[in-house]
Amino acid sequence: MNLTEHVQRAVADHPENVAIHYEGREQTYEEFWERTGRFAAALEREGIEPDDRVAIYLPNLPQFVTAFHGIMRAGGIVVPMNPQYRSRELEHLLGDSGANAVVTLPSLVEHVEDVREDTDVEFVVTVGAETEPSTEFEDFLADDTFGPVERDDDDVACQPYTSGTTGTPKGVLLTHENLYWDADVADAPIPDGIRADDRHLGVLPLFHIYGMTVTMNATLFNGGAYYPMPEWEAEEAVSLIEDEDVTLVHAVPAMYNDLISQPDAAEFDFSSLRFVNSGGSGLPMEVLETWDDLYDVPLCEGYGLTETSPVTHANHPDDRRPGSIGKPLPGVDARIVDDDFDTVAPVEEGPVDEDEAALHEITGELVIAGPNVMKGYYERPEANEEAFTEADGKRWFHTGDVGYHDEDGFFYVVDRKKHMIVTGGYNVYPREVEELLFEHEDVADAAVVGIPDERRGETVKAFVVRTPDADVTEEELKQFCLDNLAPYKHPREVEFVQELPRTTTGKVQKYELAGEE
Ligand code: ATP
Repeated sequence: MNLTEHVQRAVADHPENVAIHYEGREQTYEEFWERTGRFAAALEREGIEPDDRVAIYLPNLPQFVTAFHGIMRAGGIVVPMNPQYRSRELEHLLGDSGANAVVTLPSLVEHVEDVREDTDVEFVVTVGAETEPSTEFEDFLADDTFGPVERDDDDVACQPYTSGTTGTPKGVLLTHENLYWDADVADAPIPDGIRADDRHLGVLPLFHIYGMTVTMNATLFNGGAYYPMPEWEAEEAVSLIEDEDVTLVHAVPAMYNDLISQPDAAEFDFSSLRFVNSGGSGLPMEVLETWDDLYDVPLCEGYGLTETSPVTHANHPDDRRPGSIGKPLPGVDARIVDDDFDTVAPVEEGPVDEDEAALHEITGELVIAGPNVMKGYYERPEANEEAFTEADGKRWFHTGDVGYHDEDGFFYVVDRKKHMIVTGGYNVYPREVEELLFEHEDVADAAVVGIPDERRGETVKAFVVRTPDADVTEEELKQFCLDNLAPYKHPREVEFVQELPRTTTGKVQKYELAGEE
């Protein structure tokens, strides 16, 4: 089955269910399906052919969902683009992807027009303002005759770009099988899976694979209702959860940190929630523990990457180990390997609190094999060469993350390989220092990076956001780290900032903090 057939099955089973709920307006499965058919018909009319690329440059709106599944039905390849991107970034993505068309908002169209000349874009369609689809868009959807297009498992369905946390974003070729397989198993950690009566908060951006697979597609496979939120607003999220009895939330650590930091956090009525997951970057233990103290529903961490469509690991509420990214999803193979690709033995039980030398013995790179692993990077032969190792009849993808696993099958991510700081010959994983800073009552947010140092090669620097009214000083925070960590790990510099530069998926842009290009 291709991705479209999976959704079509839910449409047949639950035609009257609400598929999308936005600003009090609802679309049933039947209505949603009809609009996607019209969208596919319009693409066909405009000359889009199977395997042509169509960029969606929209925030989370019902129109995104229509466009995504309309493009699927027309046999096209979706190129999702971050709606916060401006001309410079669009130029790279539109140029690199070879997109033939762009779906966007009237307020964003100028950025496309700025760069269009240097791209293959043949037409741009605007879908109306955020609150209401426009007449122009309704006219675009005028045709309802559309012949289904054959798509195989192995055909490329989507070409998202990596977040660019560690370099220039790369196009990732995800097939129909990659997308439907991961959306199908992503609900394994949810008790009973996603149900037709679930209401799923759609706060993860849809241009990113995490929101696309885990919130939009997984919900639409199961007859549940998807609640798109165009941007993160803690108050708005709380109102939606409380007023609409939302049952499922998938979000990133920065959003959970924001929620628990609200002055009235203890008063939120989250009794409707039956599953809450955090992914996208490491969940600070402090955030997890505070959440668990405040609310009955346990916060479960998961892990994934764009290249694995995305989810590979997750904690189940009944089998959860705080500090861990959980166990591999059914059907996903995961290993920790050393530089020779030999498997590193598991520890007895995690998480372990070890010094650097001991950590060296138990950690390695996390590699993944399974039906959710991408076909490859788009037109990046060198990156593809580096990304995979063939072993034991499987094609293993190198995640670039350093971690370990325990005998119970739980995996732990220590940090990204690229983020490791080497200072005076010692290795420092920034995450360990960040975790400690989070424990300080005056610290609201923290990120640690390596900065060039003549004597030590690199030295540890912390960027810290203080909690409102806190007056902790640089010296006090340095001392706090010296009291709790081996001396070489303590930040030699602490800079206080108003906020940390983050991607829309909540990752700290460390290259920006480190002053790299
Ligand atoms: P680029 O490759 O362009 O730098 P990116 O790797 O940030 O972008 P994504 O696919 O969005 O692009 O992110 C995947 C990465 O997110 C993982 O490799 C890992 O480093 C991080 N990550 C995701 N979930 C977790 C988690 N639970 N704990 C720690 N890290 C996580």
